[in-house]
Amino acid sequence: MENLFEFLQFNTPIVQIPDVHNKIYVKRDDLLPFSFGGNKVRIALEFLNDMKRKGYDCIVGYGNARSNLSRALANVCYKFHIPCHIISPADEDGTRIYTFNSRMAEDFQAQFHYCQKTNVKETVERVIADLKSSGLNPYYIYGNSSGEGNEHIPILAYKRVYEEIKNNYDYIFLATGTGMTQGGLIAGRAINNGSESIVGISVARSETHERLVLQKALKCFSERVQLIENYDIEIVDTYLCNGYGTYNQQIVNTIHQQLVSNGMPLDPTYTGKAFWGMLDYLKRRNISNKKILFIHTGGTPLFFDYMMESQLINLTDPASVLNAVNGLGNLLVPSLTERNVDIPQYSLKLSSKGKVWCHYAMGEPISIIAGYFNDSESSTAYISILAVAKEYQGRGLASSLLFKFEDYAKLSGMNHIKLEVRKNNNSAQEFYHKHGFKELYEASYSSIYMVKELCYQITK
Ligand SMILES: *Cc1c(COP(=O)(O)O)cnc(C)c1O
Repeated sequence: MENLFEFLQFNTPIVQIPDVHNKIYVKRDDLLPFSFGGNKVRIALEFLNDMKRKGYDCIVGYGNARSNLSRALANVCYKFHIPCHIISPADEDGTRIYTFNSRMAEDFQAQFHYCQKTNVKETVERVIADLKSSGLNPYYIYGNSSGEGNEHIPILAYKRVYEEIKNNYDYIFLATGTGMTQGGLIAGRAINNGSESIVGISVARSETHERLVLQKALKCFSERVQLIENYDIEIVDTYLCNGYGTYNQQIVNTIHQQLVSNGMPLDPTYTGKAFWGMLDYLKRRNISNKKILFIHTGGTPLFFDYMMESQLINLTDPASVLNAVNGLGNLLVPSLTERNVDIPQYSLKLSSKGKVWCHYAMGEPISIIAGYFNDSESSTAYISILAVAKEYQGRGLASSLLFKFEDYAKLSGMNHIKLEVRKNNNSAQEFYHKHGFKELYEASYSSIYMVKELCYQITK
């Protein structure tokens, strides 16, 4: 495929997946044959098409460097020889997380301009002015510097898709983030007098907020492209799990289930959350004998990030243990440094006398649990350190570390797990309570011991 138009016309496969109550189909937009596919490839192509049509020669995008949009936009621009500049909000604490998307966006030579969430407008204006003074004619994908006025363009992508799938299903489900995708489907349905229920499972925003964003986008489309008279917007925000990027055990189970039984990759931020939401929605409302379409909106690089992150590694060599303790020990409250711990000595002891497990992402440790299993007199295992890098919190990593530690404690014939926690560290105490730990007694004026009794299944 060499020209933009061929790309825009591409139809992706629709496959049925087994279900006892309904006929469930998945439109595999993740299999769009360019840059790992997904809705952002379609959307990026629409922006590029509009840019060319209007005579600009350079793209300015906005989005996290790790996002599917940054990767898709950067790759589409590279392919069609268009300079690509992306304005990116800096991460909260300034550290950068490498992911498959951000690594690829670098390969595609996108230029990132970092800013704070509070000065996006100024940054957009500055980047555009700089590009203009270097002789380019930049196109900002979101319209004016406040991000308004171009909402109708991304909507074209899934209006097109709607026209391909129309009049075939009772329900269409999808993950809704910025609403560009759902907006397109709704516009398509309104224009074609369709009757499907289009259910957006919100992955980031409350229903009220998302509805406002969609109304604004559809108004923009109605004014600039084609009049749409009647439409309704259905958004479900009960599967947010505390917000964007966080997930729970049900999502983990859904991802596993779909991977092993249908060979379909889902990610925890978008498609895994939405797929779980869809199945639960159908169940709770006793929906049966309907034809259902789930739009797989892509995000395969996020699936691989997830696979890497959820891999627990047992560290044995002292250098790796030292590296992990160095990187994560200062997340403890108080930090190892504040406790005047000699980190090299502490690490050496852990690697020689204890056990250490870490999750890794892009080659760096992002979590750690370590402790000792050698107190056979009291049959008590001792957790010395448990920490998860800030950017990776809220994804169940701490729980999986604890499960690992517990499994190993049982294998070693331990009856209890003990740890020390600061009296004022409420969130840690709450976490341990949730996992079956109870306060034992004071460890010092500022800390307590907590302990968990291990239960063994009786095997005959
Ligand atoms: C961006 C994205 C979504 C959400 O699409 P919006 O148009 O932003 O609502 C869903 N799935 C994946 C994989 C995405 O990257």
